[in-house]
Order: sequence, then structure tokens, then C-alpha cells
Amino acid sequence: MQSRDALQPSQRDAKSIVARDTWVIDGRAIARAVRREVAADVARLVAAGITPGLSVTLVGDDPASQIYVRGKIRDCEEVGIRSTVTRMPADTPARVLLDHIDALNRDDGVDGVLVQLPLPAHIPTLDVVSRVRSDKDVDGFGAPNLGCLVSGEPGLVACTPGGVMRMLAEVDRAMGGFPLAGRDAVVIGRSRIVGTPMALLLLDADASVTVCHHLSRDLRHHVERAELLVVATGARHLIHGSWLKSGAVVIDVGITRNADGSLSGDVDFASALGIAAAISPVPGGVGPMTRAMLLRNTVDACARRRGEAAGLRSAPLTFRATRP
Ligand code: NAD
Repeated sequence: MQSRDALQPSQRDAKSIVARDTWVIDGRAIARAVRREVAADVARLVAAGITPGLSVTLVGDDPASQIYVRGKIRDCEEVGIRSTVTRMPADTPARVLLDHIDALNRDDGVDGVLVQLPLPAHIPTLDVVSRVRSDKDVDGFGAPNLGCLVSGEPGLVACTPGGVMRMLAEVDRAMGGFPLAGRDAVVIGRSRIVGTPMALLLLDADASVTVCHHLSRDLRHHVERAELLVVATGARHLIHGSWLKSGAVVIDVGITRNADGSLSGDVDFASALGIAAAISPVPGGVGPMTRAMLLRNTVDACARRRGEAAGLRSAPLTFRATRP
């Protein structure tokens, strides 16, 4: 009998694929493990007289942003990070927000400076994220940290792609080996905050990376040969299970809120079961990892900036120097 992995995409359709057990990756459980590690690191810093601090700034009253910010504050409380929230009205002039960021940049007790996005239309987002000191840019959105991904210098990695990399390390462990080196990885979506850093991180891990976006021709053709598929578009159920290579690992970053309030991903989850070797669900997959990695970044930023002074080793680099 022909092995499933030997099947070529052209030979397959949804019906011809032999059913297999698909591991549904529990992002909540992996995120809990990350929070436990972070809490232990916070305890070590606190014992040395340093309490990591995160400052969150929220401009306007976008309901989803309010929920996200509340979640971030709760997460900080759980692991022992001191957090503060500054709320500003929607008509706040950009100048006022930039001055506020400057003050946080100077405040030695603040290790992470996060401005909740999206910002009101009159405020230029890039100016704001780039104003945050790079060693406090725990979202990893600023140009210096994005540049570090290319140059191989130490930096802070954006939380979502960083969380996916951590998830893939668990996949490697749980599947008894899913090394990224040489693997055909396809990333769909090329945003500055998810798709592009994701592709760079996978490249840094020696995968062969293809990046697709809304103008890519024949998306299915790319998906069919992906051993690792990361989808981050916001297009609900863009990817059908019948497109997947048998045994692929599928990471679904996308989130769409349905009319009934439930959430859907970019992958048609039900149709991927029995084809993918592993898939991250929505909700309960990448979302919790993103939240946990913000805590990780805040404590890493604290340890790097202030840990040395307290005789603590700074946190290890979050990615390696890219080799040509
Ligand atoms: P974005 O809108 O900035 O970028 C979307 C990308 O997807 C673009 O590169 C675009 O070209 C591509 N795209 C859109 N439609 C496509 C299509 N039909 N075919 C191929 N490519 C297509 O979005 P973003 O900020 O990168 O976020 C992407 C998704 O991930 C959203 O659903 C967002 O809510 C979600 N997200 C989730 C988390 C999390 O923690 N789970 C974090 C960040 C973003």
C-alpha cells in the first residue's frame, strides 16, 4: 500500500486521503507552561530587587481593544509583572501620545512599553511604534526590532510569530521530531506584525520558506506542497482541508468573529482533520500563545536592561544570527 506521505498533491483529493489522527495543538496548555516559566523568572528578578513593569497605553474606546488590554493586565497580575494602563481620549493629538511614550522610555521602572493598536486614524501608527525605545518594544513592532530579525542582532520578536515558534518547538517534541531545517514551509499573509516576521523566523530556523499574500496566484498550488503551513490572513476558512499535504503541520493565526460571536480561523478546521498531522484550533491555538509571549518579552526586556546590574545573567537571545 502506498504510504500517505508518498502521495503527490496531483494524486489527491479530499476523498482519496487516508484518514489519520490529527493532533489538535492545545495553545492554552502551551501558554500556561510559558506563563509558569515567566513567573519563575519574575520571582528570580524580584528576589534581586527588580520587579518587571509593563505599561499599556490605550487611545480611544474601541471595545475589542478594551477587552485585549484587560486580558493583558490580568496576565501580568498572574505572573507578578507590575502593569499600568494609561487611557487617552480618541481625539488625543499625536504629539501628546508621542510625549507620553518619551516619558515611558525614560522611566527606569518600565521595562515594556505597549501602545494598543489600532490607533485612531489621525495618529500615524508607524511613528508611534517606532517611538518606543527598541529595548522596551515588547510588541516587537518597531523598525529596529524588525531589522534585528534580518541582521541577526539580538532583539525582541513580535509576540504572535514568537508564539508560533514556541508552539512549533512543542510540536517537534510531541511528534517525536518535526525539525524545521530544510522543511517546505508556506506562510500566507505578509503583514509587518505577523506574516513577514514569521517568514523570517522560519528562515532563521533553516526552513525553505514561501510567502503568499492576497495577490499570489494559485494559492492552492503553494498549500499543497507545504509540510508546514502558517496562515495569517483574516480571510475566514480560506484554506480547505482538501488542499493540505497529508501529514502537514498547520498553524492557523487568523481570527474572524462570526455573527453569533463565535470565532473562526483562516483554515476550515473540520475538513483538515484526518489530513493534517497537527493543527492549531481557533480559538485556543495561537491567541493564548500571543498573550503569553508578551509576558515573556517583558521579562526578557527587563532581564536584559536591568538584570545585569543585579548580577543576573541577561535572558538568552530570542533568535539566532541568520547564516547566509
Ligand atoms: P493584515 O490585514 O495586516 O494582513 C493580512 C495579510 O493576509 C496580508 O498580507 C494580505 O495580503 C493577506 N491576505 C488577505 N487575504 C488573503 C487571501 N484571500 N489570500 C491570500 N492572502 C491574503 O492582518 P494581520 O495583522 O497580519 O493579521 C492576520 C490575521 O491574524 C487576522 O485575522 C488577525 O485577527 C489575526 N491575528 C491573530 C493573532 C493571534 O494572536 N491569534 C495575532 C495577530 C493577528
